[in-house]
Amino acid sequence: MISAILPTYNPADLAFERGEGAYLFTADDRRFLDFTSGIGVTSLGHAHPHIVKALKEQASKLWHCSNLYTIPDQQRLAERLVANSFADTAFFCNSGGEAVEAGIKMARRYHHGAGHPERFRIICAENAFHGRTLADIAAGGQEKHTQGFGPVVDGFDHVPFANLNALRAAIGEETAAILIEPVQGEGGIRPAPDDYLQGLRAAADEFGLLLFFDEVQCGMGRTGRFFAHEWAGVTPDIVAVAKGIGGGFPLGACLASEKAAASMDSGSHGSTYGGNPLAMAAGNAVLDILLGDGFLDHVATMGTLLRERLDDLATCHRGIVTDVRGLGLMLGLECAVPNRDLMTKLRGNGLLTLTAGDHVLRMLPPLVIEESHVDEAMEILEKTCREWE
Ligand SMILES: *Cc1c(COP(=O)(O)O)cnc(C)c1O
Repeated sequence: MISAILPTYNPADLAFERGEGAYLFTADDRRFLDFTSGIGVTSLGHAHPHIVKALKEQASKLWHCSNLYTIPDQQRLAERLVANSFADTAFFCNSGGEAVEAGIKMARRYHHGAGHPERFRIICAENAFHGRTLADIAAGGQEKHTQGFGPVVDGFDHVPFANLNALRAAIGEETAAILIEPVQGEGGIRPAPDDYLQGLRAAADEFGLLLFFDEVQCGMGRTGRFFAHEWAGVTPDIVAVAKGIGGGFPLGACLASEKAAASMDSGSHGSTYGGNPLAMAAGNAVLDILLGDGFLDHVATMGTLLRERLDDLATCHRGIVTDVRGLGLMLGLECAVPNRDLMTKLRGNGLLTLTAGDHVLRMLPPLVIEESHVDEAMEILEKTCREWE
């Protein structure tokens, strides 16, 4: 008999009752160090007092009123995102998948408005992940996500990740945009080289394409910059964000330059919930901290520290970890053993991690971790490796 919950997930037999900073607790008070952040979402840790306060205050005033009315905190969050990025404008939604979908629609609409409706195709990378809507799974291009859900939405071409020649060769008369994750997440924690991202900008300019980055996982401070693409000094036209932006409250945004958004006029797109007062309270509270003095530097410092310690681990346990890669606090261990088994053993020893791709153990610790959390995680990792050997 089918479970009451549609069985599209296969959850561990482990439930949490509460969270505090980098830790999760079960009802019987077992403690776990959370290096998943709910898949990159609770970036400021669990139950951060500033976010809790902001949400509690907003919850007693107004949750939702629809975009038929002015939402002052939405204006404020949009202005702050614009002031701290390449963007001139923001569309709010509730998830990463919707943020990417909005960007795809915007790219098509841009060329339509410019008198080129034939330009609707988007070049994407192999091994990409862009969400689960019909257009997003077509953009992701992974058989395991599209199988049985056909016909696949037309208009997405795939090229090997981080190969500029292959990408340039795929540009045709119908190409509208390039859609890339600056650091591939689900596909296996692969940072794109800076010169690749710079080459994408040059190709987009040369052929009149929009450059669209999916920063749903790597954005919002995760890599030690507000956006991952800042490391390469590249200016995109459209960026999708979600996950970390709400600190755990469902919130996504599609950010765009004035040029890219030129044809998104009144009525062209929408969302009932998107940008509601409760979500905006969460988003503004998250930005208070993310944009606070020295916060992103702290993320970069912790990222470097964890990276060095993981490199040491790989050197000492070659039979288990063969390589470390990533950027900031978005890190992946290439595993010589089945990555799921390693994740399960780590969980047994009190450390929560994720997998990515077929061979990678993924870590997305909260951005607020301190050196003591890195020490604790490394102790569990070393102990688990020794037990395995
Ligand atoms: C998680 C993710 C998405 C989808 O986000 P949802 O909130 O699950 O819809 C899209 N792109 C990337 C890069 C992601 O990591």
